[in-house]
Amino acid sequence: MAARVRMVVLFLLVAQWTAAAADRPNILFIMSDDHTSQAIGAYGSRLAGLNPTPTIDRLAREGMLFENAFCSNAICAPSRATILTGQYAHTCGVHDLRGSIEAGRQYLAREMRKAGYQTAMIGKWHLKKEPADFDYYCVLPGQGKYHDPEFRIRGEKNWPKNLIKFPGMHSSDAITDQTLKWFKEGRDESKPFFLMHHYKAPHDYFQHAHRYDDYLAEVDIPQPVNLRKSHPAGFGSIATRGYHDELIPHIGTSIGNRNPRRSYALDLPVKFPQDYPEGYDAAKLTDEEVQDMAYNVYLRKYLRCVKGVDDNLKRLFAYLDRTGLMDQTVIIYTGDQGFMLGEHDYQDKRWMYEEAMRMPFLIRYPATIKAGSRTDAVVGNVDYAPTMLDFAGVKKPGYMQGRSFKPICETGKEPVTWPNEAYYRYWMHMAHHDNPGHLGIRTKEFKLIYFYGADYQGGNRTPPAWELYDMKNDPLESTNLYDAPEYADTVAGLKKRLALLRKRIGDQGRDFPGTEEVVQEFWNYDAADREKAERISGEFLQRRVRDLKDSSKYKNR
Ligand code: CA
Repeated sequence: MAARVRMVVLFLLVAQWTAAAADRPNILFIMSDDHTSQAIGAYGSRLAGLNPTPTIDRLAREGMLFENAFCSNAICAPSRATILTGQYAHTCGVHDLRGSIEAGRQYLAREMRKAGYQTAMIGKWHLKKEPADFDYYCVLPGQGKYHDPEFRIRGEKNWPKNLIKFPGMHSSDAITDQTLKWFKEGRDESKPFFLMHHYKAPHDYFQHAHRYDDYLAEVDIPQPVNLRKSHPAGFGSIATRGYHDELIPHIGTSIGNRNPRRSYALDLPVKFPQDYPEGYDAAKLTDEEVQDMAYNVYLRKYLRCVKGVDDNLKRLFAYLDRTGLMDQTVIIYTGDQGFMLGEHDYQDKRWMYEEAMRMPFLIRYPATIKAGSRTDAVVGNVDYAPTMLDFAGVKKPGYMQGRSFKPICETGKEPVTWPNEAYYRYWMHMAHHDNPGHLGIRTKEFKLIYFYGADYQGGNRTPPAWELYDMKNDPLESTNLYDAPEYADTVAGLKKRLALLRKRIGDQGRDFPGTEEVVQEFWNYDAADREKAERISGEFLQRRVRDLKDSSKYKNR
């Protein structure tokens, strides 16, 4: 008798679980590398007229667009680690490009699998260790190659030795093929799926499929108003301009000739001579002409890569439409962070400035998300994992620091407890693109940035300073209001919130006490601190000029 009761209970449990599984949507998380909101039509930027992303725009038309989605650290590996773990960089330990997430800590995949989802990771992974917490993976090694890509898969040999190769193909095409193949041959239809589908494009240096060689070739790409006038009088601070503007050439790599160490004006004619007119000689042109040329080559290459992503998503969506999966799946599109497309004459990401900190975030699930909806709620990449788990019916694990914004997707309203703030921190002080270490807080209304300007040991100092921008009235961040008397209360209030936020999320210098000492030293930024900043500016300039003289690249100029 007892055995019979047990059987019935077991049957009921299984039936209940199966019903629950049928109710749960599939989750398709699509991410491109460095695809910024300015280059997505639905975000309505200066580039929208070029119609760069008709397919991606469909997700906005039929779903929800987030105007204020932010990454907490605008660079590849840390953003990916945060998305996978639901933890900030200082918690998951991926502060910079050297970090990795090993199996056992690939939390989002683990939780989805535990909940009965079939999990897969296809495309750019960039977290070094084997994605073993996924049921299936097919990932580019490291940054991967644009042309003739190869992928690491599970197989007879140990990670990372099982490779499949696609000579003659472009990575965006191959990644989409692999995902379609997984849908057709790898899917276990008894389970809902969680798939991460990640493109390498449009990461630098931008190599598109050859079929796009002529795309936009004859078009002068619309320029941002702050390309030419990159550093108007009110923009930035001694941290980004130096004392009496002495560091403008050395902070942030440039499109034009501003930065003598690294600029697209220097790099692109060497990397892509075929995109320059025959006999191109920068020495015969004005700085403005050189900047125009580099900008056009940069944006055409970038937008050709974007077009390749969009066309491939058209193929993927056609399959989902045909099979009926489209409406049974929560589909998310995002980039791992934003990107400077010449705003302030900057290239790359890393900055807390809007174009780099803001992520595109579109989500479509017609069963519960209203078509054509938009929200200005402040959400972050630390919230993505809890949100996807919520859609899968999984309660947020305690070790995740983000919060689910599923209710915002479904109602368009923020829960009363939803915080109007996002934390940001960039750690890789003066690496690669000459960005000083900084941290800050973003609300719907304001952005407070603190450039503390020091490396992991508190060394190689650049001048510290604070910047405040009024994001409602000055979305292009042209006027730093930190010292404006009428904003003194705003600054004081935001500083207090920033300190509390750092405490709440635990970013208080545990791993890098030397850096934290600098952060604390200039927190109040009194007259003595400002004087010290002027001295640090001069000292940094001396070191930089010496380094440039030693560098062969500079000698050749
Ligand atoms: Ca990236």
